[in-house]
Amino acid sequence: MVSLASTVQVTGTLPVHWKYVSEGGATIVFSYRGPPNPDFDGTVLRLRKSILSTVPKITRASELGSQNTETPGEVEEPDDPMIKFQTTCMERLIPPEHLPHLESVHVNRGWLESLIAVHDDERPVDRRLRDQVDLNRTKGVLATDLVGGEWLAVEIKPKWAFLPSPTHLSEITRPTKTQTCRFCMHSQMKAKMGDSVSLGYCPLELFSGDKDRVTKAIHSLWNSWMDSNGTVNNLKIFIRGKVIQPSDTSLMFVESTNQAMDPRDAFTSALLPMLMNTPVLRILSKLQRSLDCLDIEGLSNLWRAAEKSAPLYRTTFASFFEKAGGTSGEEPPTSPIGVSSSFLASPEPTISDWSDFLDTYLSQTSSQIDHTNPSPKNLRYYLLAYLLSATFKDCSIIIRLDPLQSAVAQSTQVVPERVTVIDLDPKSMDRLRKWEKLDREIVQAYLGTDENKVCVDGWVE
Ligand SMILES: [Zn+2]
Repeated sequence: MVSLASTVQVTGTLPVHWKYVSEGGATIVFSYRGPPNPDFDGTVLRLRKSILSTVPKITRASELGSQNTETPGEVEEPDDPMIKFQTTCMERLIPPEHLPHLESVHVNRGWLESLIAVHDDERPVDRRLRDQVDLNRTKGVLATDLVGGEWLAVEIKPKWAFLPSPTHLSEITRPTKTQTCRFCMHSQMKAKMGDSVSLGYCPLELFSGDKDRVTKAIHSLWNSWMDSNGTVNNLKIFIRGKVIQPSDTSLMFVESTNQAMDPRDAFTSALLPMLMNTPVLRILSKLQRSLDCLDIEGLSNLWRAAEKSAPLYRTTFASFFEKAGGTSGEEPPTSPIGVSSSFLASPEPTISDWSDFLDTYLSQTSSQIDHTNPSPKNLRYYLLAYLLSATFKDCSIIIRLDPLQSAVAQSTQVVPERVTVIDLDPKSMDRLRKWEKLDREIVQAYLGTDENKVCVDGWVE
């Protein structure tokens, strides 16, 4: 495999020059705080983690073959799959100026051990007991530090941008799913369960491109952020790399400002022009809706139709098919969606599968596919399309604003590079059956309430 690893020497920096920022299930992030260095100023280092116990590590399919601890002798460890997925796939869908810069860098065991020695105490205790920086890795990812500069960084998780087409919905779900968006239904359900949610925020308003509706979306996000004391996950605000709480809104203003302006109004007037002028929201909306053209209901139906048409399936269940053309009401069982069976295989997509998929998706051929009558022959296309759509339903955007001023006229320049899409990880095939179940639960829960929210999808080609 061709390595993209740069000549930048992270191991030439001192571990004390890196500050622990955060960590997720699979990776841990440090930001550079050492002496000025053009290679590292404004960057974060993302490293893979490994489980501490003797329990064998479970390989996540979405890691796309990133396991390399058994890399024999001379073979170089491949770059982190996150880089490959971005350079091979995401850059074909999102203009590179709206993606963080990612670079593969070499690390070594001695340097990683020192890093752990210096920073392990700063990690949450429960994490420390479970895992640590993977000492067997020889590469990490150096990325743009989007939240750490002298600006106000706003992270928005916009979620689902569209109402599904009615074509593949059942009689029962159609009236609801074409009127209330998936996010609003899901928020209702979660709120009933006592979760902290952005109730009142509707993504279709944020994605509308209409000034009044986008303003309303920003206000809703702000209000939920305030009401939940900053715990909702659709809005986060960072000042110099630190997430701030609603009690700290004064930090959002330039220091000399006497805050005559309401923080929400100042925030909205700085953010609104950025959201109105960036192409990012429109791109995400188009990707989500064109990649999820069957809805999970249509995809499930297609999965079953494909399995039933497989020759081995028909031989195995021959007796069912002989019975009066299947009118007995009895149907042979089919495998759950996304799960491999002896009749239908659904292996996890590799980078080259994603690449092939994009060749089709971005070609003229894709517009000739009849999505009203999807063919079982195209099942693989629809499965990958749905997974990719899920990536865009789950990503976040970071908008970098100048610190707020109390004056009505905001000076924030609309620079394309100031809006960046992050968290674009590939999704795994084994999520499909969970999403199928969740979709049923969300609609059923909503049907059981008196709610009847009308979400307007103002998409125009
Ligand atoms: Zn909605």
